[in-house]
Amino acid sequence: MADIIQLLPDHVANQIAAGEVVQRPASVVKELLENAIDAGATTIKLIIKDAGKTLIQVIDDGKGMSVTDARLCFERHATSKIKSADDLFQLNTKGFRGEALASIAAIAHIELKTKQAGDDVGTAIVIEGGSVTSQEVVVTPQGTSVSVKNLFFNIPARRNFLKSNAVELRHIIDEFHRVALVHSDINFVLYNNGSETFNLPVSNYRQRIVNIFGTKTNEKLVPVDEDTEVLKISGFVGKPEFAKKTRGEQYFFVNNRFIKSAYLNHAIASAFDGLLKSGTHASYFLYLTVDPQTIDINIHPTKTEIKFDDEHTLYALLRSAVKHSLGQFNIAPVLDFER
Ligand code: ADP
Ligand code: MG
Repeated sequence: MADIIQLLPDHVANQIAAGEVVQRPASVVKELLENAIDAGATTIKLIIKDAGKTLIQVIDDGKGMSVTDARLCFERHATSKIKSADDLFQLNTKGFRGEALASIAAIAHIELKTKQAGDDVGTAIVIEGGSVTSQEVVVTPQGTSVSVKNLFFNIPARRNFLKSNAVELRHIIDEFHRVALVHSDINFVLYNNGSETFNLPVSNYRQRIVNIFGTKTNEKLVPVDEDTEVLKISGFVGKPEFAKKTRGEQYFFVNNRFIKSAYLNHAIASAFDGLLKSGTHASYFLYLTVDPQTIDINIHPTKTEIKFDDEHTLYALLRSAVKHSLGQFNIAPVLDFER
């Protein structure tokens, strides 16, 4: 009997992993922005051409990488963020899987420039099809710039299934908002096809929301603040007249991470019970802080879903916090003329 099992070569394994991590240009944007935040950047620039199909570049002024790390960061499971499985439950970084750069490198062309504080020169590396094609010593500012070009160049099926530029750009901007809303202490700039679309100054949550969604938003925000032993909630819900037909402006952050949760969304909807016109959805920007020991964020490669130890308590606390705020601010029901 012949043996038939073999280990896949790295570039094949990376390309398979990339299928999960990188669904579209916006996924690359998310990963690069998160790396810049983890690097302690105070200013992060995102440069997009043709909805990311031609170029996605993120420039940060964070801590940069050494020459060795600049090469190592493209290896699968190469990370500076955790050392053991236990660290998964005390995470204070966005990343921990060490898969993003390896995945992106497997399906796109990458140019990396990076320099650490105190070094005179930095490193520039070009990667094509998963392997390094050039490495040079360069003069570059402190921090890191990653340019991603020709996304899915070697996966025509994926490339062909990308949506129109308008749709892909929408996804990118959504991702940009999700990251910028929770990191109001970082200056974010977005250039789309050469023009500056956003320049968000360092501020606070409220100001950041207003800078993104417009000055009119300010008067529509009802603050939510609740500090319990299990959970700290801060942020805002939109007044009922701010409710939307679409589920657009609904943002949950858990320990600084944007999270999707139909269950917790329901908690908020139920706090708004009787206050909304039928067919509309409450807007909210809620920032939850929980003990990292009580959540598991390693259940999905893109980390937008998490598992809570005690989801029911969270539901109840959230619902009562929102109800309390709405009551305190004397929010009356919107008359429903459509019924
Ligand atoms: P992860 O973020 O899960 O660790 P990545 O593949 O995204 O995995 O990045 C691998 C490593 O490369 C990171 O752990 C970090 O040490 C380094 N790195 C990536 N991007 C940057 C950056 N913008 N600035 C400094 N270091 C970075
Ligand atoms: Mg990362």
